[in-house]
Amino acid sequence: DTRVETHEFQAEARQLLRLMVHSIYSNKDVFLRELISNASDALDKLRLAHLTDSDLPADVSDLHIALEADRERRTLTVRDNGIGMTRDEVVGLIGTVAKSGTAELLRQLEESKDAAASQDLIGRFGVGFYSAFMVADRVTLLTRRAGEESGTRWESDGDGTYTVEQVGDAPQGTAVTVHLKPADAEDHLFDYTDPWKIREIVKRYSDFISWPIRMEAERPDGESGTRSETETLNSMKALWARPRSEVKDEEYHEFYKHLSHDWQDPLETVSLRAEGSFEYEALLFLPARAPLDLFSRDAVSGVQLYVKRVFIMDDCRELMPEYLRFVKGVVDAADLSLNISREILQQDRQIQLMRRRLVKKVLSTVKGLMTSDPERYRTFWDQFGRVVKEGIITDPDNQRAVLDIASFASTHDADEPVTLRAYVERMKDGQEDIYYSTGQSRSVLENSPHMEAFHAKGYEVLLLTDPVDEMWVESVREYDGKRLRPVNQGDTGLPAEDDGEDGEKARTERDRQESDFTPLLSWLREQLADEVKDVRLSSRLTSSPACLVGDAQDLPPSLERMYRAMGQ
Ligand code: ADP
Ligand code: MG
Repeated sequence: DTRVETHEFQAEARQLLRLMVHSIYSNKDVFLRELISNASDALDKLRLAHLTDSDLPADVSDLHIALEADRERRTLTVRDNGIGMTRDEVVGLIGTVAKSGTAELLRQLEESKDAAASQDLIGRFGVGFYSAFMVADRVTLLTRRAGEESGTRWESDGDGTYTVEQVGDAPQGTAVTVHLKPADAEDHLFDYTDPWKIREIVKRYSDFISWPIRMEAERPDGESGTRSETETLNSMKALWARPRSEVKDEEYHEFYKHLSHDWQDPLETVSLRAEGSFEYEALLFLPARAPLDLFSRDAVSGVQLYVKRVFIMDDCRELMPEYLRFVKGVVDAADLSLNISREILQQDRQIQLMRRRLVKKVLSTVKGLMTSDPERYRTFWDQFGRVVKEGIITDPDNQRAVLDIASFASTHDADEPVTLRAYVERMKDGQEDIYYSTGQSRSVLENSPHMEAFHAKGYEVLLLTDPVDEMWVESVREYDGKRLRPVNQGDTGLPAEDDGEDGEKARTERDRQESDFTPLLSWLREQLADEVKDVRLSSRLTSSPACLVGDAQDLPPSLERMYRAMGQ
């Protein structure tokens, strides 16, 4: 059956393709990195499939990637003899964008009218296979799934449709051929059939790929002749196995981009080596930007598991807690079975020890940044603080460590977030507790009448506006022996309310006021009987006539909502 079927790209895929065709991304070289990265993944998958099922009828004798340039026809082919795809996989994987965050990306692109901002968004998303359309006006993909009889040919020129047809004699694996757009001086399109250009790109972006990337090239031979020779373009060294001092930052950065599909350099590189009875090496990265799907349910976590240099799995959640789900990297363990399953991972004690150590290392790295590079720490916290704070609740063992690296908006300085340590250090004489206020925005909190007494005393108040804040404040009793207290619940514990030289005078004064205001208070209680529990005189206000206060045991969010609903 050699019917050629024409299919439409899924709507989101079409939109992404259009962006690629119109080349909003200026660094077009990266298309080759994306195709090589896919080829490398396909080889990893085949090796693993073969290791776990030796009956798989696949050829694993010479797994590699081949680059074939044809200067006359202006094509470049990236060929692998890896796992390949079935027809349905081609349609499902290439014709649609299943990646989480796509809708969000497209929405933001729609809104952003600025080219630089759009590039930045695309870069954070990583468009993978479709990036071929930055340089090509047609892309052909020929593939055969390892173990299957026949193959599939896919082709598209990047408009709304693609074709698929069955082919009898495809080699195992996948060959992607890009038909290069005419070289256009204005477009700054390089000649991607030039062996020098290809060598340069592979060296820069894909040197660490653990499979050989080969290319046939003409070499001078004898007086005037040339002969064709196969070169291996990459060094194939597993970066995590090399001592940190021998690896250039750029190499780490390219490796990070390969792992994360991010087009931006990471914020920080973390490496770790454990020796002894359970050996492993880890190379982790803190991204510089939060991914678009940070809060999506189906976002994949970023840690890959290897066993003795063999790729085992992506998205290894057992190695990194959810609140550090943005950490990318590789963990290579020496003593695990290649057949290890997720179920076993979840129970394995060694894995748990490993995870504990990795978490501590990540947290201490961030702590280090706070002093060594406050600017970068600030970037980190701006991007990931909202997620990291989940750890205050979900990781009791590291609660203190997470609190130590956290910073919060406060009344002290509108632009500088404060750490709890700094807060405690500048507490006013006589101030016993750490005060905070939770709610939806800084301005609402700042202008709340609850704040008046604190303003008057010059006490700093933390302004907590992330949803997670409402939760963690409930689980933290104290920091450095100082209680955390909400400004809008129960007794504020402000010293003037009970203590001090003026205490006696203040109390008599209040007793006098109480009796003066008894009729008003009971009238108010009656009028508001359905709305509030009680109406009291308070010393917490300095200029507003009234404010709503919750009991210490009340839930703050519901109160907040009521408060706003009543027009404050
Ligand atoms: P990603 O690599 O982030 O998943 P891509 O757009 O690069 O996204 O690729 C989409 C999917 O197409 C891959 O996840 C993979 O399943 C499939 N694919 C792409 N290239 C190959 C290949 N050379 N061999 C096998 N499958 C491939
Ligand atoms: Mg890819």
